[in-house]
Order: sequence, then C-alpha cells, then structure tokens
Amino acid sequence: MNIKFEDLKEKKVLVTGATRGIGRAIIESLAKQGAHVVFNYRAGKEDIANEIREELMKLGASTATPIKFDVTDTAQIKESLDSFVKEYGVIEGLVNNAGISRDQLVLRMKEEDVSATLDANLKGSIMVCQALSRGFLKAENASVVNISSVVGLMGNAGQIAYAASKAGMIGLTKSLAKELGAKNVRCNAICPGFIATDMTDSLKEETKESYLSGIPMKRFGSTQEVSNLVNFLLSNASSYITGETIKIDGGLYI
Ligand code: NDP
Repeated sequence: MNIKFEDLKEKKVLVTGATRGIGRAIIESLAKQGAHVVFNYRAGKEDIANEIREELMKLGASTATPIKFDVTDTAQIKESLDSFVKEYGVIEGLVNNAGISRDQLVLRMKEEDVSATLDANLKGSIMVCQALSRGFLKAENASVVNISSVVGLMGNAGQIAYAASKAGMIGLTKSLAKELGAKNVRCNAICPGFIATDMTDSLKEETKESYLSGIPMKRFGSTQEVSNLVNFLLSNASSYITGETIKIDGGLYI
C-alpha cells in the first residue's frame, strides 16, 4: 500500500544510495507520489541509473534526475549538488540512505573498515546535509530523513563501527533539528530493524529463524513499509515532528 501525500507532488527530494535495496524502494514510492525524484548513484552505474530514471518516470515522477557522487567524496557532493541547484532550484527533501556495513568482532576489526564505515554512513550524511542546508533555508517546508538503524540504539556484537555510525546519525539528526528548526527545516531519523532486501534473502534458513524468534511480529519488514514512513516524514503530514527517532522494527527493540 502506497499512502498518498499530496504535498510531495513536484517536491524535489534527494535520496542517496538509491540504486538498490531500501533506497530504490524509497525513490519508487516517491515517484508514485509525483515527486521530482533526485537519486544518487556511484560512478560505473550509469546504465542502471538511466534504467531507473525511465522506470521512475513510468511510475509517475514529475521529473527524475540521477546525480553521480560518492558520499565519501565531499568535493564531488558539493560540485554535483551545486550544479543541480543551479539548473532546477533548491532541493526541499533529503533522505540520507547510502550506507555500508563491514561487520567484525572488536578483536579482529581493521582500522580501514572502521574508517570506511564511519565515512560512508556518518560523515557522508553530515556532508550531504551541509551541502544542501543553504537551500533548505530558502525552501518552504524542508525535511531531512536519516536512515539510522535499531543497532544504533541497542548496539550489536560484531557491529561496533556500524552501530557507532548509526548512533552518530541520531546525534546529527537532533543537532540539525535544533540548528534549523526556527527556519521550518525538520530533521528526523528512522531506525529500521530487519528489512527484507537482497541481504536478508541470502541468509541461511536457520539464521533467519533465529532472527525472527527475536521479533515480536515474527516477520521481517518490507521496503514499502519503510518508504511509507519516509514519505510521511518528508511530507507536511508530519509538520510538527522534528528531532525524533522512530523505530520501524516489528518490536525487535522494545
Ligand atoms: P544495500 O546494501 O542494499 O544498498 C546500499 C546502497 O547505498 C546502494 O545503493 C549503494 O550503492 C549505496 N552506497 C553505499 N556506499 C555508498 C557511497 N559511498 N556513496 C554512494 N552510495 C553508496 O543496503 P540496504 O538497502 O539494505 O540499506 C539502506 C540503508 O538502510 C543503509 O544505510 C543501511 O545501513 C540501513 N539499514 C538497513 C537495514 C536492512 O535490514 N536492510 C536495517 C537497518 C538499517 P552501490 O550500488 O553503488 O553499492
């Protein structure tokens, strides 16, 4: 079920890491709202980006604009977003979704994996927020949604860097909400639990069963359920919600 939010029509919304998984579902859902979907992909994925653009237009996007940058490359972020804004005007919504996980127990963790995780998930999100903030101040109802994770709230063995990066995104969310709230710029974080993506599909049956036993609702979430929450937070239906962290996890972390 794709819940309709009328004010998302023609709203310019950037989603990072949108070539697959949750990010892909979010842009498809935004296209169905009639938004101007601005979606981010990395170098080497030009063909996929063009296919996605065509698909988004078929789904109902008012416009679909692919933007190439790596969230770990601050110069690239700034250059590509500045040139978008020059051509189309300010971006009014942002979903910081791009993320990686390089899981390892503390004793085996490599420094390069810690740096890569923090750079992509946390620093990348901060730098994209910074690149767009001047425009947010000019927009009427700007809204930022940061895709954190339940492990940012509850921690997880084997995921120290990932959990730290996701907890950091919550600090980013609350701080940006405080800095820009007076200008009607909102910022919220969502914390998904297990969401059915390629990642969960490839799990062994017994691993899936063990994860499911810890979820009161006894199922993984769907990318559509995540998209519905993201759309709500981007839209004016959530106009008095900011600095909030919302779990979407079937009760995994109660
Ligand atoms: P996927 O691994 O399926 O997709 C990640 C996306 O991020 C891809 O499009 C990838 O691009 C992109 N990406 C990764 N690094 C960069 C980078 N440096 N610059 C630009 N894009 C990048 O992940 P999911 O869809 O499962 O997860 C999406 C978000 O949701 C992540 O932040 C994740 O931490 C979070 N999350 C996911 C959960 C789940 O159960 N799936 C649970 C909780 C949180 P490319 O195709 O080029 O690799």
